[in-house]
Amino acid sequence: MNQAGNAIKQQKRLFGTNGVRGIVGTAMTPDLAMRIGMALASMRPGTIVVGRDTRTSGPALSGAIKAGIMACGCDVCDVGVIPTPALQYLVREGFDAGAMITASHNPPEYNGVKVIEADGTEMDDEETIALEERIFSEDFAVKSWDLVGTETFDPHLTERYIEAVAGAFPDGTGRGMTVVVDAGSGPASRTTPEILSRLGCTVHTINSTEDGTFPGRLPEPSPAGLAPLAQLVRETRAAFGVAHDGDADRAVFVDEQGDYLEENREFALMQRYMCRKQPGIVITTVATSRLCETVAGETGCRVHYTPVGSIVVARTMRALAEAGETVSFGGEGNGGLIFPAHQHCRDGGMTAAAMVALLTGAGEPLSALSKALPPYVMIKDKIHADEPAALCARLIEACTADDTDLTDGIRINRPDAWALLRPSGTEPFMRLVIEGENRAAAERLQADVMAVIGLSSRK
Ligand code: MG
Repeated sequence: MNQAGNAIKQQKRLFGTNGVRGIVGTAMTPDLAMRIGMALASMRPGTIVVGRDTRTSGPALSGAIKAGIMACGCDVCDVGVIPTPALQYLVREGFDAGAMITASHNPPEYNGVKVIEADGTEMDDEETIALEERIFSEDFAVKSWDLVGTETFDPHLTERYIEAVAGAFPDGTGRGMTVVVDAGSGPASRTTPEILSRLGCTVHTINSTEDGTFPGRLPEPSPAGLAPLAQLVRETRAAFGVAHDGDADRAVFVDEQGDYLEENREFALMQRYMCRKQPGIVITTVATSRLCETVAGETGCRVHYTPVGSIVVARTMRALAEAGETVSFGGEGNGGLIFPAHQHCRDGGMTAAAMVALLTGAGEPLSALSKALPPYVMIKDKIHADEPAALCARLIEACTADDTDLTDGIRINRPDAWALLRPSGTEPFMRLVIEGENRAAAERLQADVMAVIGLSSRK
């Protein structure tokens, strides 16, 4: 996948890792949205679900993509404002494709489109390239008056998602537990508080009125933006606070003391909960903390690594399950967690609900669970490089004596630390992730890597 994967990334001109994104009015326009709709309808005949997050540009772009879809003969089921995982759930339950108008965690001036396949997963690279080719060559199956599509408006379908998530846990799972939800003014405002209420929790909310100007915080749930959430958690003596990104496929947490739970620790704690219920394979990317190995070891599970990107994780989980393997859990160390019995995509609402169940059975508060994990130290860096592939090749050559993994770029595994150097898909820089048992171990490996690739100072 390494070299082929990078070649595919470079072939894509419009779409990035998770859909098309751009600044509204310049890169992302109703004209482009309509063309995406025309191309999608030409490739996926049937009924296409269209939803959006709460961005101010959502209605205009949604109207445009629906026009393109119907012009090319597909029917539209408009579900209005909805989290991405809820739309994915609905598509898998009985539609032919989906289009989610969202820019996920990007600032308010951005918007974009995530294309969803009939199985509920995001469209893969090969099909996305075919979609782009149709857009650039204007290869659209435009229909005559008697064959154009129709539209229904079905925002109530979101209820099915809420029911599915809440219904995955025993009645009263959260009884007696107080929680705080920060929906980031996004579409989870209408799902996560309701889900947690149905689990029996007492739910307080912050930033949970839909507003595309994002008055409370930006759509990326960064620790700095979550100070009001942390304060409300402490004031209400809540068990945790949960915050979503702009389309609620991710969920991050603050513990009962208001401290941010680093996302790799979130992954590890949820992994342990899931693996104890159902031991099997855990699927994550080569950029995830070694905590996943620690937890896999203690729960009798095994880790399967993929290239970076939630779509490849989700599709690998599905493929392994279809091949008869027991897949316990998956996702990335960025709050994007995948619960395979529910659906094969990141799901922020499900993650929030699972945290209730995890804490109900844990007998310890979230802060204690996090502190009991090994205190690994992670360093992330971005290195400018005109020829990223050459730098990677140099490191591979220099590390023949090491245990290396070439799944995505190069990962060097040493007993007390590991490093991942991988080219960005589209820009002239490399991402470097290093993790050590402690800071000294991480810095030692960092110095070794920097010496090989010829850089003495970090940028
Ligand atoms: Mg997102």
